[in-house]
Amino acid sequence: MQAVDTIIHARWIIPVEPENTTYEYHSLVIKQGKILDILSTEKCQKKYQAAVEHDLKSHALIPGLINTHTHAAMSLMRGIADDLPLMEWLSEHIWPTEGKFVDYQFVKDGTTLAIAEMLRCGTTTFNDMYFFPDAAAKAAQEAGIRACLGLIIIDFPSAWAKDSDDYLHKGLQLHEQYRNHPLITTAFAPHAPYTVSDDPLKKIQSYAEKLDIPIHMHLHETQDEVQQALDKDGIRPIARMEQLGLLSPLLIAVHMTQLEDDDYKLLKRYGVNIVHCPESNLKLASGFCPTGQLSINKINVALGTDGAASNNDLDMLSEMRSAALLAKVVAKDASAIPAHSALSMATINGAKALGLNHLTGSLKKDKMADITAINLDTIETQPVFEAISSIVYSTNREQVTDVWVQGKHLLNNRKLTTIDEKQIRKNAKQWGEKLSSD
Ligand SMILES: [Zn+2]
Repeated sequence: MQAVDTIIHARWIIPVEPENTTYEYHSLVIKQGKILDILSTEKCQKKYQAAVEHDLKSHALIPGLINTHTHAAMSLMRGIADDLPLMEWLSEHIWPTEGKFVDYQFVKDGTTLAIAEMLRCGTTTFNDMYFFPDAAAKAAQEAGIRACLGLIIIDFPSAWAKDSDDYLHKGLQLHEQYRNHPLITTAFAPHAPYTVSDDPLKKIQSYAEKLDIPIHMHLHETQDEVQQALDKDGIRPIARMEQLGLLSPLLIAVHMTQLEDDDYKLLKRYGVNIVHCPESNLKLASGFCPTGQLSINKINVALGTDGAASNNDLDMLSEMRSAALLAKVVAKDASAIPAHSALSMATINGAKALGLNHLTGSLKKDKMADITAINLDTIETQPVFEAISSIVYSTNREQVTDVWVQGKHLLNNRKLTTIDEKQIRKNAKQWGEKLSSD
């Protein structure tokens, strides 16, 4: 018998790689934070002896979900301004509130609130874009979740930085600080084409190539954004990004609701990654990302919730369902984005976009043990004919029972093990009172 750290026996294991595959009555073996083996429970009992064993008889194990676009700290602005279009929402509500309240503590408390919500719905990695990424990094580190922190760059000053050079300088410092961290990585995060000018974008492109880190940016979120760029620059934002050399496999382009026929070839040629945020796009009436067409063109599409102020939750299970449903009506094809594709978008495709697919995004030998367990033995999900379909089309986040990141048990039977739930609720309430008294 070989001694290992943890064994999880499960009714179903859905590795995601290979796609559309489900193992029944299998066990997953963890040693030193990594997946050592996945084998039938019968064989496992003869081969391994673990310090800790979990018998999840009615559960499915999936790779930890990857939320590839968030503004985690904006959880403190959940519901502050609803039912508005993007530009009015941003310029009349979000930006003025941020100008008054956002500081290190706001971001630390808001990100911790977001992480607690994300872990409770099975998310093990998030890709963030916000001011004070140092505070978000600290929150992620304390919670033990995997995170890619955006080194935010925007033309206007904030409490975090005074101008684009200052944003870049502070970002590079943070990158250096976390360069060898096991759970934290960084990406440049120029906010959007309409808020970042050419000069900082050129610098970002050159640094991203040198440091080999992604560029995480909102792009073609609305028709209005494209029209304003045409009026101002005479070219669409995507063409401007091509001229500036930003189109590459390092680019994570968020939203992309405005695509023309030639764009598919362009995106494929440069290997650009797309992040689809269906619920935020629906809520702000931004438009529809044609994921069915992108998938036919073999363009990598990941999923994100966007911030909780435009969603209004960070629930990747419901995001998967929304993505699968929306794809069908947009493509006028019920077979567009089947359940297993939606699950890949929420896992391995996000890992690929972040350059983390050697570590996470699927349940595979030698990858890190980033795992989510979902109880399918509930009224709402019985009977189960096909576990992947049950997870995408009928499971809600309350059914997520356990989460491991790098083998560490961060959610144990729905209890957070590294975060004080009472304290977070208290902090969030206090911020809510402060923001609403403004
Ligand atoms: Zn966003």
